[in-house]
Amino acid sequence: MSIANNINTIKSSLPEQVTLVAVSKTKPVSDLMEAYNAGQRIFGENKIQEMTDKQEQMPKDIEWHMIGHVQTNKVKYMAPFVSLIHGVDSFKLLKEIDKQAAKNNRVIDCLLQMHIAEEETKFGLDTTELDEILKHIQNDNSFLKNIRIIGLMGMATFTENEAQIKKEFLHLSSIFNKHKELKTENFKLETLSMGMSGDYELAISCGSTMIRIGSSIFGSRNHQ
Ligand SMILES: *Cc1c(COP(=O)(O)O)cnc(C)c1O
Repeated sequence: MSIANNINTIKSSLPEQVTLVAVSKTKPVSDLMEAYNAGQRIFGENKIQEMTDKQEQMPKDIEWHMIGHVQTNKVKYMAPFVSLIHGVDSFKLLKEIDKQAAKNNRVIDCLLQMHIAEEETKFGLDTTELDEILKHIQNDNSFLKNIRIIGLMGMATFTENEAQIKKEFLHLSSIFNKHKELKTENFKLETLSMGMSGDYELAISCGSTMIRIGSSIFGSRNHQ
């Protein structure tokens, strides 16, 4: 199967409200161009340097999503062009994104990453930390003018146990639904980013509106 075929097959199976992010980390620009020529315009990368290199070489109508963990000191490199940052997991990071977005006269869309997996190593907020961020946002609207929180993101435990994955997706979905009514100028939950190659159908059935697919489009990766 070619990259174009893979994209078309996946896309034709998706409900209308679900957005496909093609996760192109570690793959060469030639592979990304194959996806681009098949109509794909949203690409996800997890390393800033790699994303910036590809952004410079590729057509400018692409939306670049940062799906990996973001270090505060790296935000400035992507602030000029990034269209969605999936892995926002601290208030400190949110403030830095706001600052760098302001410098670029932009408003940058963000997703708050929730920790839903069993593994300690996966990044993300717990519900207490989420509530604290929400409190900041509700109490004072005069700051963070250059970010918009448009949704949540999460990664399930790496396991074969579908019941476990489902439980985690439903947990994230319930957090999402719980805060859907809260709307401020820079907070409105519309996007739920969950599901990868192995579990995206399950994720969609649990309420996902954005899936991040790498290996099912580009083939397996040699290194992370
Ligand atoms: C690599 C990666 C993906 C894609 O994984 P596949 O299993 O190859 O589809 C999705 N989300 C994140 C955060 C990733 O790092």
